[in-house]
Amino acid sequence: MAIYDISRTISPKTAVWPGDSPFSFELILSKKAGSSVNLTTIHLSPHTGTHADAGFHFADDGLHPDQLPLEKYMGQAQVVTIERKHGGMVPADFTGKIQMPLERLLVHTWVSDIPDDQWPEDFPFPTLELIEWLAEQGAVLLGLDSPSVDAFDSKDLLCHHRLREKGLVHLESLWLTGVPDGLYELTALPLKITGICGSPVRAILKTIPRQT
Ligand SMILES: [Zn+2]
Repeated sequence: MAIYDISRTISPKTAVWPGDSPFSFELILSKKAGSSVNLTTIHLSPHTGTHADAGFHFADDGLHPDQLPLEKYMGQAQVVTIERKHGGMVPADFTGKIQMPLERLLVHTWVSDIPDDQWPEDFPFPTLELIEWLAEQGAVLLGLDSPSVDAFDSKDLLCHHRLREKGLVHLESLWLTGVPDGLYELTALPLKITGICGSPVRAILKTIPRQT
């Protein structure tokens, strides 16, 4: 069994959504200064690096991370590389690439290859048509290496809302470089924090032993 870590590394250099808080940390206590421990405090937007959006991000009655359905963030997931570089992803982008049943779809694009300190504005995102199709297949999670499930300049966030209406959760800013397409066991659990609008996740894929 092999494990792929599909999380972006979070550091003060990590690019964040324009206008969002950059990540920082400080050493509050220091062993070198005579304290018994090193103690750090972090300053972090929940949307830094690889993360799960919580419904409260785009709806006042949406869930907080501690309320998210954990079972949707673990289980069989399919990594699929698509050719599309920009614009809305449609079901045709995945023709011939999906193995049924489809529980969780992780879309691998060029965005995985940009460094942690660079921001992609012209990233691919799902269309409502793709979301409807995913829901029809019974999928419960959509994971992207793009930083949003809506276009960069979207104001109404229609895809965020439609995913929620259809019972799908989503992960953003996955890092899928070097991961071969195929079936895996995903684990990407949000932290148990209440009141906030999303959570960083440590997303991993475990290879599934071949059935013989
Ligand atoms: Zn987000």
